[in-house]
Amino acid sequence: MSEYRVNEHGYYGSFGGSFIPEMLYPNVEELRERYLAILESEDFQKQYHQLLRDYVGRPTPLYLAERLSERLGASIYLKREDLCHTGAHKVNNTVGQILLAKALGKQKIIAETGAGQHGVATATVCALMGLECIVYMGQVDMERQKPNVERMKLLGAEVRPAMSGSRTLKDATNEAMRHWINNPADTHYIIGSVVGPHPYPDMVARLQAIISKEMRAQLKEKTGTENPDYVVACVGGGSNAAGAFYHYLDEPSVKLIAVEAAGKGVDSGESAATTFLGKPGVLHGSKTLLMQTEDGQVTEPYSISAGLDYPGIGPLHAHLFDSKRAGFLAVTDAQAMDAGIRLSKLEGIIPAIESAHALAALEQMELKKSDVVIVNLSGRGDKDLETYIKWGGY
Ligand SMILES: *Cc1c(COP(=O)(O)O)cnc(C)c1O
Repeated sequence: MSEYRVNEHGYYGSFGGSFIPEMLYPNVEELRERYLAILESEDFQKQYHQLLRDYVGRPTPLYLAERLSERLGASIYLKREDLCHTGAHKVNNTVGQILLAKALGKQKIIAETGAGQHGVATATVCALMGLECIVYMGQVDMERQKPNVERMKLLGAEVRPAMSGSRTLKDATNEAMRHWINNPADTHYIIGSVVGPHPYPDMVARLQAIISKEMRAQLKEKTGTENPDYVVACVGGGSNAAGAFYHYLDEPSVKLIAVEAAGKGVDSGESAATTFLGKPGVLHGSKTLLMQTEDGQVTEPYSISAGLDYPGIGPLHAHLFDSKRAGFLAVTDAQAMDAGIRLSKLEGIIPAIESAHALAALEQMELKKSDVVIVNLSGRGDKDLETYIKWGGY
């Protein structure tokens, strides 16, 4: 078995596990016992791939960005997750988890959301399947992300404000957990990244692994070889990166580059660069790397990009960092905004600001003319137009 896949105890190296309150144990245990059999069943596979094709719009193209390649002096391919229905990779996971919820016989769905992207992807598949959907969102985030709140409502979801603490993502997560404890029998909790107690990180990674499965086939068709020199992806919790890395984890010739948000600078006090600033600890049910104070309080993260504004990373990524299987780079707000504007002008593609972090990292890498690089373009920039406008400079 690969040392980069989760082991039978739910660990990646020394990271992962399931650190949950006792009252959550039956829910997580049911999932742990049943997820693999469901995900690998013929029925699930058929429905999942049919929806990915007809509803999400997969396979997403692998696009050789010629003008960007010329600028950077290497062959740069973009994996176009921005073309997925709802505008990002997140729907790959929610489509899979809604089918899993149905297979488990659950009628109700809950989710937490920060910026609202995962909430929208969850509300979307609940509408598709006619299931009741409650999304917890920090009250501060609801103010900041009004269009996504309205999208979720339009899709038929109920958005419940989390009023405790800093009224942001971690408080929304606490509320969702509390809801799940009180409604274990009929409710499935859809987590939006490769975080949370085992089996969530493995489950979400498997559902996003379609990204690298397609990459291999598409690169082979275009270049005659399945393996690029580099795969580059941004990391918030790490689900798009996990999907982009998945089928390359045991190919040592493929260098994996994970890109974190440095915010206003790694040492500025306003950053979300977890591997640079974090230490091992427990966050949202798993042991991982997280940003924390001397006495172990979780530090408030910062990034211009709402999707990367998370104080930890999933346990798989903590292990990829620890084992040096992946390289980690940090990109500032300014570097990401420049890269986003550059891609818009060079290729006619306005990227999500999260994805712009992955693009900006290319400038830090010493690329050779012969290098083949795949960048996972996790999402489109429509949702970020206001941030681009405020930033200006284009
Ligand atoms: C949510 C989001 C991310 C960050 O989440 P991961 O789990 O790290 O992938 C990155 N890009 C986009 C477009 C997103 O919406």
